[in-house]
Amino acid sequence: MSGPVLDTIIIGGGLMGLSAGLHLARSGKRVAILEKSWVGRHASGASAAGVRTLNRALEELPISLEAMDMWRNIETIVGDGCGFHSHGQVMVAEKRSDVPVLEKRLAKTRNAGCGHEELIDRDELLRLVPALSPYCAAALIVRTDGAADPHRTLRAFRRSAEAAGVTIHEGCGVTAIDPLGSDWRVRAGEREFVAPTVVNMAGAWAKTIAAMVGDDIPLGHKASMMIVTERVAPLLKPVVSLVGRPLSFKQTDQGTLVIGGGLQGRADIEAEQSFVDFMELSRSARAVIDLFPTTGSLRIVRTWAGMEAKTSDLLPVIGPSPRAAGVFHAFGFSGHGFQLVPIVGAIMADLIIAGGTRKQIASFTAERLMQRQAVA
Ligand SMILES: Cc1cc2nc3c(=O)[nH]c(=O)nc-3n(C[C@H](O)[C@H](O)[C@H](O)COP(=O)(O)OP(=O)(O)OC[C@H]3O[C@@H](n4cnc5c(N)ncnc54)[C@H](O)[C@@H]3O)c2cc1C
Repeated sequence: MSGPVLDTIIIGGGLMGLSAGLHLARSGKRVAILEKSWVGRHASGASAAGVRTLNRALEELPISLEAMDMWRNIETIVGDGCGFHSHGQVMVAEKRSDVPVLEKRLAKTRNAGCGHEELIDRDELLRLVPALSPYCAAALIVRTDGAADPHRTLRAFRRSAEAAGVTIHEGCGVTAIDPLGSDWRVRAGEREFVAPTVVNMAGAWAKTIAAMVGDDIPLGHKASMMIVTERVAPLLKPVVSLVGRPLSFKQTDQGTLVIGGGLQGRADIEAEQSFVDFMELSRSARAVIDLFPTTGSLRIVRTWAGMEAKTSDLLPVIGPSPRAAGVFHAFGFSGHGFQLVPIVGAIMADLIIAGGTRKQIASFTAERLMQRQAVA
């Protein structure tokens, strides 16, 4: 056995792994990230990069709102703006009969003491998104939400993590984890790494890593699909979603239109490949054409699907392993983890360095999923 002395081994070189590595290294920890393929190969590189507190689960809102403060200061954290713009996110009610859905949601967040969402009428909606079809009725908005550039974000987090001293090993897929005295020995084929703490941030493959330390955590997966079009003149600034139809629609700095919304393709987890279902994906394209009729003649440049882990309640797992001392999990972001990237790294550093965090993560235990499995 050889290699440098490590305090923490992070498994998974997506944005979560980079963020955790960065926060830990800045606190003086010696960290290695082991990545099976290359940094950003899976969900983090496939992401639509929406930075959204709008319509989040109430359980996630405390950390999501705190993450938003970090996004506002992202340049201070990673030395680059990550292409983040807070042009707002709007959830549009196309019909008057959809408006009660927005009203109900607003009441729910207000009752929870959160005032970040606002209901706007048709006139205000059309003032903010003039290209939108005038038939739409109203919208819920978070004016400070927005979107970033996923690849610029990956580059910035990687650069900062490496500058802070994190070592990144690509092409280094973890195959086994065994106790070694009070440490953990992590094997990646012939290679071995030893540290007292291990963080499982392996995305769609986190269940396999958890099983290596004896945690049987039920976990599904998803393969969200995306479309990107050719570049067009400025069309819209806020990110647009809909009540009752799957859509997330935005324009990038380069002028391309990015269409997502969580429609599902097919994932082959074993083969590490995902596939686009074009018939299904056409539902998002249809919604865009209804809302922005001028887009009907645009050419699609690329479509893709990206894999990630999904939990039964669509909330992530963030916290210590139920069984293995010194092992921590953060996965199952279920299609909306990009916005949480800065805060999850900070939480992981709190858990590992201080042994706890003041951030509200009580809803994210692995145990909740394991108990539900035991009852079922
Ligand atoms: C198409 C799509 C659109 C999305 N849009 C949004 C959005 O608009 N807003 C939002 O907030 N979120 C969005 N998300 C979700 C967000 O991108 C993810 O929640 C986030 O990127 C998860 O990051 P991660 O680091 O946990 O996972 P990943 O980026 O998947 O990283 C996990 C890494 O672990 C590695 N790994 C797996 N097994 C091993 C092993 N045995 N050894 C070593 N390494 C291993 C993998 O190769 C992978 O690189 C989207 C996701 C997708 C797929």
